[in-house]
Amino acid sequence: MKRFSLLPSGRLALAILFVFAIALTLNFENKAVSGSTAPQAGSLRIIAFGAHPDDCELSVGGTGAMWAAKGHQVKFVSVTNGDIGHWREAGGPLATRRTKEVEEASRILGTTVEVLDNHDGELMPTLENRRAIIRLIRQWKADIVLSPRPNDYHPDHRYTGILVQDAAYMVTVPFICPETPPLRNNPVFMYYTDRFMKPNPSQPDIAVSIDAVMDKKLDALAVMESQFLEGGANGHEGLMPKNAEERAGRVKQVRDNHAARNIGIANRFRTVLKEWYGDEAAAKVKYAEAFEICEYGRRPEKAELKRLFPFFQ
Ligand SMILES: [Zn+2]
Repeated sequence: MKRFSLLPSGRLALAILFVFAIALTLNFENKAVSGSTAPQAGSLRIIAFGAHPDDCELSVGGTGAMWAAKGHQVKFVSVTNGDIGHWREAGGPLATRRTKEVEEASRILGTTVEVLDNHDGELMPTLENRRAIIRLIRQWKADIVLSPRPNDYHPDHRYTGILVQDAAYMVTVPFICPETPPLRNNPVFMYYTDRFMKPNPSQPDIAVSIDAVMDKKLDALAVMESQFLEGGANGHEGLMPKNAEERAGRVKQVRDNHAARNIGIANRFRTVLKEWYGDEAAAKVKYAEAFEICEYGRRPEKAELKRLFPFFQ
């Protein structure tokens, strides 16, 4: 105390100026970081949301495996536990079965997975659920957040899209969910592609060739027998193989159906593939996944998208 009271006024003014200078610098850095800058150096952090235990794997399983193979951190979140997603079984045992399926798929893809304990078919865009999504995005320190669009045949898909949209700005606001530190960088939010046309069709900004990992994606989807081999909620007894030969046939049929879906995306968005790969390479792409930038998160330029999707030469 004595030392401060003895400071000459000139030195005191200098000390005050110094403190102001530091404060200004910190504030400037804050702004620089929270603007539309590139993600932090090092590995990328991607969090993908789906309504059910299989949605993320279907929509971004290939690209997820490609990020993971390059050492990036990828998390798939199922916002419901999938407990009505079968024609013959339901409830806790089905939720447990489906959680095990996505955990096994995750091991194959090299990703991380979490299944939230919300009932399948009953998801609502509540404040409680919005907070849960905000916390998950913050805890993962996400650079990229993926979700379905809010236009979809399934209410759980729609509300997953709404919940993630509703988090798209709030993840940066400090006094909502204040116990989980806010993100200084608003992530890039992106939608999976889909075939719904109203009120507007999917218009991907980026299409990724997953040719190199298609087998891995098909292997990951194959372990979700409750959904694909057995047909999920709309399946029936007639799908169940009665012997090894029938089973082999059914497994092949499921793989072919999944492959056709990603062939369809490559064909439908060949123009987008050309923008990213050039005409010659794009023409050869067989399987693709595609993603559209959501207007409510950070809006990256093409150069930043290339850093976020480090799969292009
Ligand atoms: Zn679903």
